[in-house]
Amino acid sequence: MNVDFLIVGQGISGTLLSWFLHRAGKSFVVIDNGADSIASKVAAGIINPVTGRRYQTTWKADELLPHAEKTYSELGAFFDTQYLFRKHIIDFFPSPAAREIFVERIQGGNTYMDAYPDQNHFNRHIKYDFGCGEIRPAYVTNLGLLLADWRKWLIDHNALLPETFEAERLQLSDDGVRYSDIRAEKILFCEGAPGNNNPWFHLLPFALNKGEALIIECPDLPNTHLYKKGFLLAPLPVQGTFWAGSSYAWEGLDEGPTEAFRLKTVQLLEATLQHPFKVLLHKAAVRPATVERRPFVGLHPLHQQVGILNGMGTKGTSLAPYFAQQLVNHLLHDAPLTPEADVRRFTRILSK
Ligand SMILES: Cc1cc2nc3c(=O)[nH]c(=O)nc-3n(C[C@H](O)[C@H](O)[C@H](O)COP(=O)(O)OP(=O)(O)OC[C@H]3O[C@@H](n4cnc5c(N)ncnc54)[C@H](O)[C@@H]3O)c2cc1C
Repeated sequence: MNVDFLIVGQGISGTLLSWFLHRAGKSFVVIDNGADSIASKVAAGIINPVTGRRYQTTWKADELLPHAEKTYSELGAFFDTQYLFRKHIIDFFPSPAAREIFVERIQGGNTYMDAYPDQNHFNRHIKYDFGCGEIRPAYVTNLGLLLADWRKWLIDHNALLPETFEAERLQLSDDGVRYSDIRAEKILFCEGAPGNNNPWFHLLPFALNKGEALIIECPDLPNTHLYKKGFLLAPLPVQGTFWAGSSYAWEGLDEGPTEAFRLKTVQLLEATLQHPFKVLLHKAAVRPATVERRPFVGLHPLHQQVGILNGMGTKGTSLAPYFAQQLVNHLLHDAPLTPEADVRRFTRILSK
């Protein structure tokens, strides 16, 4: 079988890369082992333009947000469903100092932040002492459904190899790559955290970390907003259910969900919610984060047949649409890559 591209991994990165290649009329096979505890299936799929205790605008938010909205809307139209839900974030300030910083940002002209007009509006649902502000636009994306729909499309189009990719079976030649009976011009790795062990890219500065989340049922909490109070509560498509998270752990990456996270999060929820709730699920996955907090995009400096789209860190939902499209434009039209994301910034390391 001859195809233009072989893609390894069908998380949000591999899904969107193959989507844009399909739109460009290119052929491909995606190899994915269907693992459950991967970042894209555990994530809430939140797109939040503001980050950290000092309420900074996230990197390239002005470009990433419209691009993500367009991409997920086009996918929704393609599958006749909705993946992206615009829901603003209500940020409950943890202290008067935090409120002051928030107000300063608004006065400084940050258009993603606004004072919430009725400070008591959420009292019936959430316990809070220092007021709240609004972050908008923000989105929740149903990544689980999108990945499942795209996987089915790949199967229907004979474009999925549902197995674990084994690097020792890959042959590189001057005119492309060969894997089993598949020949392709290039192989593109979208492996998420396991990319840390990829023979061609393992020297890149990954900084993997594990995150956990609870899925809860809280029928009396309105699903109109995302609620942020130390942790995030995001409404899910099933009425009355919410995603609650998350954590950052740099050790015990293989441990899966921990009792410590569950206990701490249940306590936080009890201290925050005015309504009874029930824990339905507890999940964990490893984020493919990087030391510089910038993704790895492009072709290997020594092996032009080998590429990467990885390192999405905590922001795959907004970064992957933009950089998957950019990588496709680079592959097909030699369009430039964003220098901070171009994997060739590590040419010296990758040439070792
Ligand atoms: C708890 C938690 C909450 C998060 N919340 C958010 C959020 O709200 N918003 C946001 O933007 N981001 C969030 N993230 C981060 C986000 O999940 C990641 O940035 C993104 O999902 C990474 O996607 P990916 O496709 O690059 O990798 P992955 O999702 O890890 O996908 C990689 C795929 O490759 C497959 N694979 C790997 N190796 C092989 C192999 N050898 N053979 C075959 N298949 C292979 C895997 O099985 C998987 O299907 C969160 C992460 C966690 C853990």
